[in-house]
Amino acid sequence: MAGRVVLVGGGPGDQDLITVRGAAEVAKADVVLYDRLAPNPIELARPDCELIDVGKIPRGEFTPQEQINALLIQRALTGKHVVRLKGGDPYVFGRGGEEALACMEAGIPFDVVPGITSALASAATGGVPVTHRGLTQGFTVVSGHVPPGDPRSDLDWAALARTGTTLVILMGVLNLPHICHALLEAGMDADTPALTVERASHPDQRVLRGTVSTIAEACADANVQPPATTVIGRVGELDLSGQS
Ligand code: SAH
Repeated sequence: MAGRVVLVGGGPGDQDLITVRGAAEVAKADVVLYDRLAPNPIELARPDCELIDVGKIPRGEFTPQEQINALLIQRALTGKHVVRLKGGDPYVFGRGGEEALACMEAGIPFDVVPGITSALASAATGGVPVTHRGLTQGFTVVSGHVPPGDPRSDLDWAALARTGTTLVILMGVLNLPHICHALLEAGMDADTPALTVERASHPDQRVLRGTVSTIAEACADANVQPPATTVIGRVGELDLSGQS
């Protein structure tokens, strides 16, 4: 009899920011496949649970993603209850959609447990509300993993510069100088506040504040490393950190 697969969002990293349902699924699992940005499942899983760190799959003949999909299906076909534990929310830049499709194609029952995405948690733990009455009526979440103008990019950065919403950029550490340049070129106010939150929610979280004109240099000077998320917009005028 086939088992099943549950895609679980683990939250932004801190162990207790997984949902109650997500933690319960990990506790029931026979197998957990987890990656670098997910909370460590050791404390949540059964002692006899098989834990597979898929962040360590090497690049070989097949991409790690193909191997992850194959592992999920193979374990589920042996009747196991398989949890795929991912950082943040499984369907926000997590390739969770591809894993769900692979399960569907293989005829394996699957479910998804949403998670707290780092896109929203980074702003919150960094001290800004992602929306705020009188400042902004929305937010836009984008990936910065390819620079503006790159043929692989399907984002309209000039349009993003004009949305008036809070702009949240994931996977943008490397390309932040190009991204900020493109926003300024497109007419974004040079004094628009910006902040970058490195390792949001972790004990060693760092927050760098500046403007769209200065944040890239501030990050370079501080040697900011992934995972980090940049938030650009008028909500950065507020600083709600340091209340504890
Ligand atoms: N599914 C995840 C995102 C995966 S993409 C989610 O919903 O959060 C990976 C990117 O997420 C990183 O490059 C970084 O931009 C962001 N990220 C993940 N964890 C983070 C953290 N603890 N602090 C800041 N950014 C984080």
